[in-house]
Amino acid sequence: MSDMTEKETRPPVVAVLGHVDHGKSSLLEAIREDFVILEKESGGITQHIGAYEVEVEGKKITFIDTPGHEAFSAMRQRGAHVADIAILVIDASEGIKDQTKEAIKFIQKADIPMIIAFNKMDKPGADPEKVKGQLGKEDILVESYGGKIPSVNISAKQKQGIKELLETVLLVAELEELVLDLESKPEGTVIESSLDPQKGAVSTLILNKGVLKNGDIIATHYAFGKVKGLSDFEGKPIEKALPSQPVIVLGFNRPPGVGEVFHCCSCLSEAEEKISKRERKNLFIIEEDKKALNIILKADVLGSLEAVENVLANIPKEKVALRVLKADVGDIGIGDVKMAESSRAMIIGFRVKADETSKVFARQRGIKIKTFEVIYELVQEVRKDMMKVLEPETKRIDLGKFKISHLFKQSKKEQIVGGKVLEGEMTRNIKAEVFREEEKQGKGRIKGLQKEKQDVGKATKGQEVGILFEGDVKLAENDVLHIFREEKEKGTL
Ligand code: GDP
Repeated sequence: MSDMTEKETRPPVVAVLGHVDHGKSSLLEAIREDFVILEKESGGITQHIGAYEVEVEGKKITFIDTPGHEAFSAMRQRGAHVADIAILVIDASEGIKDQTKEAIKFIQKADIPMIIAFNKMDKPGADPEKVKGQLGKEDILVESYGGKIPSVNISAKQKQGIKELLETVLLVAELEELVLDLESKPEGTVIESSLDPQKGAVSTLILNKGVLKNGDIIATHYAFGKVKGLSDFEGKPIEKALPSQPVIVLGFNRPPGVGEVFHCCSCLSEAEEKISKRERKNLFIIEEDKKALNIILKADVLGSLEAVENVLANIPKEKVALRVLKADVGDIGIGDVKMAESSRAMIIGFRVKADETSKVFARQRGIKIKTFEVIYELVQEVRKDMMKVLEPETKRIDLGKFKISHLFKQSKKEQIVGGKVLEGEMTRNIKAEVFREEEKQGKGRIKGLQKEKQDVGKATKGQEVGILFEGDVKLAENDVLHIFREEKEKGTL
């Protein structure tokens, strides 16, 4: 690292994108295996920290090692400029697919140069020329196809063409003139972050300018802290972090969101004040008298928490409100269960666990804890639970009309009357509204139906029957009963 200060450019930061199964992970793995210069004393890389550094011909390249688009788009959404160059991996035997197109859009939006890696060249069906034609239709013109976008044929599996790909990265980087700025205040992007039970928030950062040292005060939108420890991507403690170098940082008060930009503050109180203002805005505001599902949300990192909050915000809430009483990072603990009990909430966890004590406690008190690994499933379940809160909607189905001509027996509770079905049909156990000269008098139920002193199940238009009525009106001759049935329908949000 020390020689870097003499040079004028910083190493390029590279992201790998492409359709699922086209070989992104295999490529990252192949590069890591052959080009990471292992420091003997570090004992090898064991943890996934979201980025690593390689060396080719004495020059460094940083690779962002987060799988797929999810992370990249999260970073893009936050406007982070993290990658300088993108490698678009395409399975040369399959050609371009949906996510290839999506990746092209991401890269174009990010306004960074791309290099195309035609992968799986070892497969018999590999045909990069054909794929170049497909790309041409998307306005992506590779070098050998009359355009400027470099491409390299590789096989991640057989480790063919990897060095050439890295050399191409260096060539593209040279043209980009990535200035090494050591004078500005340190600034960069959060690549990965998690909560370690012993160490607290552990975050991988990549600086795009400045030098980060122990004791610096750093802040993102959601987290802040004083740097308590810096180590390189292999876990070896370092004194300072330079631009483009992946660095593991300890000291944030909680894990910042992936893709968040961080900057330095002059003092802790300034950093804290900005954050508490933002936090207060964070929870959903809802009217008090509305039916609501109360939830406590826990997620592994702030990036996920935000993603979950975003999708939950999209569920319609006109009929049932979703009240997020607490949204926090970390495993589900006894505190969460106690809060759920006192506020009649359920606990929703995303990529977190609940410890045994909390589980037992929750079971005893009837508190629901649900955990998910996939956002889509989480949202489906929350929707279902919101529907349960919703009372079924009652739908009225009009069946017909009945006109009373005789009063046989009238007690306070039950009345037996005779008459004729004017319209439709009637059965037992249906509801009726009583009308007297077009004016509604009250309502009741038809409990029995008789034709010629025999119980019947049904009477249709024109038939004369006796009915047993129970209701809040004293019936009179010429009253008309409007009869109907009610059905409960499961409410939708
Ligand atoms: P990702 O979803 O883009 O990260 O794709 P993976 O790296 O997980 O690869 C998907 C599948 O393709 C795996 O079964 C790999 O072994 C296979 N694969 C990756 N690269 C190559 C390659 O160069 N040649 C062949 N034949 N298979 C490959």
